[in-house]
Amino acid sequence: MLTLNYRYQLYPNTAQEQTLIEWMEICRGAYNHALAQIKDWCNSRKCLIDRCSLEKEYILPADLKFPGEVYQLNNLPKAKKEFPKLQEVPSQVLQQAIKQLHHGWEYFQSRGFGFPRFKKYGQFKSLLFPQFKENPVTNLHIKLPKIGAISVNLHRPIPSGFVVKQVRILRKADRWYASVNIQCDVSIPDPVPNGHPIGVDTGLEKFLATSDGLRVLPPKFFKKLQSELKLLQRRLSRKQKRSKNYEKQRLKVARLHHKIDNTRKDFHFKQAHALCDTADMVFMEDLDYRISAKGMLGKHMLDAGFGQFRTIVKYVCWNRGKFFGEVDARGTSQECPECGGEVKKDLSVRVHHCPHCNYVTDRDVAAGQNIRNRGIVLISTTGLVGKETACADGLPGVEVTKSRQVSKSRKGRTRKSLK
Ligand SMILES: [Zn+2]
Repeated sequence: MLTLNYRYQLYPNTAQEQTLIEWMEICRGAYNHALAQIKDWCNSRKCLIDRCSLEKEYILPADLKFPGEVYQLNNLPKAKKEFPKLQEVPSQVLQQAIKQLHHGWEYFQSRGFGFPRFKKYGQFKSLLFPQFKENPVTNLHIKLPKIGAISVNLHRPIPSGFVVKQVRILRKADRWYASVNIQCDVSIPDPVPNGHPIGVDTGLEKFLATSDGLRVLPPKFFKKLQSELKLLQRRLSRKQKRSKNYEKQRLKVARLHHKIDNTRKDFHFKQAHALCDTADMVFMEDLDYRISAKGMLGKHMLDAGFGQFRTIVKYVCWNRGKFFGEVDARGTSQECPECGGEVKKDLSVRVHHCPHCNYVTDRDVAAGQNIRNRGIVLISTTGLVGKETACADGLPGVEVTKSRQVSKSRKGRTRKSLK
């Protein structure tokens, strides 16, 4: 089964835009209400049943069950009678809002932190249409229930043999997008490691350095756009909240954020394709960039978006049939790629000079070569079926990299799991 997500820009007319915004608001309301139910239930179970709850505890009947997903979904029809506004939204879309909440809830339960939060105005930004009887996408329009055909820029056609499974409508700044989930019933073998290997080291001094000696400097637009953003944000801070001018300025900031996002992604894709042009196997570090983003250079780490870059490289490799692997990142900059000896150097030393074998090269290139060496070891020890093959489980930006943070399982877990 091959699953892909294609994103197209949408051009809803004013009425359609209003409807979509209204739907998001209604879904947000349902989401918040469902979350409030869960929160009330949890709070009411915090003291023992036979004690009097003195403060902050809501008293709910003791035999009241936890408001689970099925329960809340089944209550939607009842709620619709009471609040006719809920009927305006296609029912499946409304159900997805509840499912989204419970998805977050399950995730919270499994890792022990990240309690779902209430969504404020404007924080509910997408609508998922989970099912279609017939293909909703034509060359000019996407046809959605209850709202009709919305103009779309189908800049690339949906490949033949693929079926549209889901459509997610996204709102970014003042633009609208449709993320179309398509599936095809073929199985594609994972790329087999062979051919020319490269190791890729990423960093702030150079955006990336490969073991072949290729170095790419961080692009200038990062800095330029950041200073532009600073200016706009400063202007925003001087506007009076909730005023018309504030709203105008807020939109400008949002648009710029969106632009930075797009520029960065474009740059990442181009770099990833350039890497695939030169190599048949690509190895990268398995760093969790979120840890380093907490350090002093955190802002710059986040701005470069290394995590997204790795996801994109992985995807591009998979797309072009190249092998992708992740290797242990520990000490790649402190090792000599030629003799394997340890060469201590701090961040300011930009040249790798090995005292053991007199190997001299650029610091980042040396790190890249170490990564390549480790990658070769990795595929020869795990055999041809490397564990870390790039697979089609998600597209850039969708996938969540696993956190290295170890969560302690909470002792006082909510009683749903104890029961
Ligand atoms: Zn050496």
